[in-house]
Amino acid sequence: NPDLPDLVVVGSGFFGLTIAERVANELGKRVLVLERRHHIGGNAYSEAEPETGIEVHVYGAHLFHTSNQRVWDYVNRFTTFTNYQHRVFAKYQGQVYSFPMNLGLINQFFGKSHTPDEARALIAEQASEIETSEAENLEEKAISLIGRPLYEAFVQGYTAKQWQTDPKNLSADIITRLPVRYTFNNRYFNDTYEGLPTDGYTAWLERMADHPGIEVRLETDFFDVKDEYLGKVPVVYTGPVDEYFGNSEGRLSWRTVDLEPEVMAVDDFQGTSVMNYNDADIPFTRIHEFKHFHPERDYPEAKGRTVIVREYSRAAEKDDEPYYPINTAEDRAKLLKYRDLAKQEPMVLFGGRLGTYKYLDMHMAIGSALSMFDNKIRPHFESGAPLSSGGVDE
Ligand code: FAD
Ligand code: UDP
Repeated sequence: NPDLPDLVVVGSGFFGLTIAERVANELGKRVLVLERRHHIGGNAYSEAEPETGIEVHVYGAHLFHTSNQRVWDYVNRFTTFTNYQHRVFAKYQGQVYSFPMNLGLINQFFGKSHTPDEARALIAEQASEIETSEAENLEEKAISLIGRPLYEAFVQGYTAKQWQTDPKNLSADIITRLPVRYTFNNRYFNDTYEGLPTDGYTAWLERMADHPGIEVRLETDFFDVKDEYLGKVPVVYTGPVDEYFGNSEGRLSWRTVDLEPEVMAVDDFQGTSVMNYNDADIPFTRIHEFKHFHPERDYPEAKGRTVIVREYSRAAEKDDEPYYPINTAEDRAKLLKYRDLAKQEPMVLFGGRLGTYKYLDMHMAIGSALSMFDNKIRPHFESGAPLSSGGVDE
């Protein structure tokens, strides 16, 4: 059928667009991208807040960072990056601390100036009640690393709000993402490259899709049109893996966030882009002030005004956006069953955050799409290699 594309991509997030761009540009094939939202870009999509013109990341603040040279070279074909470096501050009991945990926070919290060695000795003593290698959950792991006082101030309340779960019932590795430094370095990321797309995420995403071989069909749910394509052309599916199989093995659990934007009648609300709220009795986890992501921009309509977004976290219900995999033991058992089912779909590849049920940063989603292109899609189109060898991309 000459009307059929060579490849269908379900979802126009970074994973789907990377596949579409590579297949159109490198292989000269025709790609149809189906997207059920009214816009492209998945969760990285951003738009100008109408009153102020300030760029707001609609699905939560997105900071680009990577140490992967290949991904960095690839993304620079579509956008330049500013020199933005992410820093987060933390509010607890009416005081503001420099975050993540560093010498500044330790000195301020304990009301005394410590040298790096003194701070290390202090924290080691406070953390001695639990051996790190014996820590079995997030609470024990955190206490074994930073001691009880810092845990109770900066981790316990925030984590309970973010996961709506007692930290004793959360996996220990969640906390290893948060560094503790015995210097005054308060950069949030350790990666080689970091920055924000100079003219915004949406311009970047649109440039990836801008190719005569790529057609993007918005407000189109794959499940409404799948019979036209399934079994006829290869499909790269980046939607939720459980939904693909009609939730036959049960729903995978996700955490969602509620984002409440508000235009404030002040030039500057909090003096920085992200403030964490660590007290347990404040219902939101953090406030983003989007102006501060682009200090190099002149937002003329935003004089005397600013946009803040309060972020609340909770378990996702049926119609909520799935954001972070909760990944309980039950979820992992279901995921194995879905992977077996995926192996039985020879013409469908599953990828991306939702398709693999993995939290992927943008650079990881892009890197994993580049690998899928190299290892499966190019060999399939160039020499007829079978598409699916294992189903879910690991
Ligand atoms: P998505 O962007 O989710 O795209 C999937 C697309 O598929 C969606 O547009 C969806 O509508 C579409 N779709 C699903 N099902 C169907 C269907 N049946 N038919 C048609 N279309 C369908 N990464 C960072 O690097 N830095 C950050 O600071 C950062 N912050 C984040 C903050 C939040 C709150 C969240 C949730 C994520 C954050 N990320 C961040 C991760 C980033 O969003 C992901 O890496 C990226 O979105 C992954 O791209 P993807 O293509 O896999 O998925
Ligand atoms: N965390 C915390 N206190 C903070 C910030 C983070 O205890 O002020 C913990 C929390 O458990 C969280 C984890 O560290 O889930 C990772 O934090 P990160 O900021 O990376 O979360 P994300 O930005 O992905 O929501």
